[in-house]
Amino acid sequence: MTSFSYAIATDIQFGEGASRQLAHHLLRLGFGRRLLLVTDAGLMEAGIPQSVAASLQESGFMPQLFTQVQPNPRDEDCLIGADAFLRFRADAVIAIGGGSAMDTAKAIALLGRQGGTPAEYADGHRTYGATAPIACLPTTAGTGSEVTRSAVITETKSHRKITLKHERLRPALAVLDPLLTRSLPPAITAATGVDALVHALEGYTCTVTQPVSQAFGAAAMPLIYRALPKAYRQPDDLAARSDMLLGSLLAGLCFGSSDVAAVHCLAEALGSLYDTPHGLANAVFLLPVLRYNASACGSQYANVARHMGVADAKLSDGDAVAALLDALGAWLHDLSIPTLSRLPEVRREDDERLVALALANGSTASNPRPLAADDYRAILEEAYRM
Ligand code: NAD
Repeated sequence: MTSFSYAIATDIQFGEGASRQLAHHLLRLGFGRRLLLVTDAGLMEAGIPQSVAASLQESGFMPQLFTQVQPNPRDEDCLIGADAFLRFRADAVIAIGGGSAMDTAKAIALLGRQGGTPAEYADGHRTYGATAPIACLPTTAGTGSEVTRSAVITETKSHRKITLKHERLRPALAVLDPLLTRSLPPAITAATGVDALVHALEGYTCTVTQPVSQAFGAAAMPLIYRALPKAYRQPDDLAARSDMLLGSLLAGLCFGSSDVAAVHCLAEALGSLYDTPHGLANAVFLLPVLRYNASACGSQYANVARHMGVADAKLSDGDAVAALLDALGAWLHDLSIPTLSRLPEVRREDDERLVALALANGSTASNPRPLAADDYRAILEEAYRM
């Protein structure tokens, strides 16, 4: 008998121009007037936070910008952000950006109200108290953080990526406007989009998946698979941008209530050691992990191939898995995603650290085929050979 639970308290608003209604939704949901807008330098260059701030001001809110967010966001910036939150006497936190801005905003909403450091929560030394209300305006189509209950932060002193995970970190409001993703450069579009596909694929096939996650994953995969090459080649293709944003939302709803697996464990290890952009780090491990897992979850991978439309129902499971691997190889190639050996920052002498970090990641247990250190070593070898 199937049994599962699924709950999500995020109010989701999706559509072209949806961000223009931000003030209306903040009022409707009872957010206070003093808003800390959390964003980064790339977004400031694109001019997006400035126009959101101006329109909030026109509607009677008091926005204040906090722009000190880095890719693979740092705990020390979260602490500075929490200080800014307190000094401004903010009522709520609004993230404008990709996963880095959204995760920093979640941490600020927690630390600004409860104190402490991100590691104290992630390591279980502090309990999660009430956060300030959080709203997210994603500007990448990748992480799904606008609907998840986690925040991935890098601890500066140890350089490990830690995950804060609690229902209190789930945003109260997610406003998804494809217009905000049009300025995303092609290489970042490609890398963040691969992250979204991996969320759907791992959320759909991991050991803790469940029917609602699988339904979201099945809907997300074909959208992302088809739309990403279009958005990559034609950045102002609004239909492709919209499909990508929807795909990444659905993928977030998929893995947000199941888990990710070995691709993400290796990707987070790589990000910890070298600051490799998260989507790129996922992309270089995708095929080697799929090959490793295929013997354990061939029929699920065959279903993934059918959902993505790269294998028809008549193909055997084995042939459908082969078609999936071929299709994803060609897809990554079309997106000009480099292989692991082409990443200049990666050093072979760090292999054992990578393996240890991946193994220590809690999501290793959710991988559909069990993994020991030697299995991670073999996957790493294959990633280098590609
Ligand atoms: P990101 O937020 O680091 O952004 C990448 C770059 O793109 C930045 O330089 C940013 O300025 C730029 N950018 C973003 N939107 C833009 C736009 N519209 N126009 C121009 N430039 C733009 O990238 P990301 O992949 O969205 O986030 C990665 C982070 O999210 C990682 O730290 C990862 O671990 C985390 N993550 C979190 C979750 C979660 O559920 N909390 C899930 C997956 C990943």
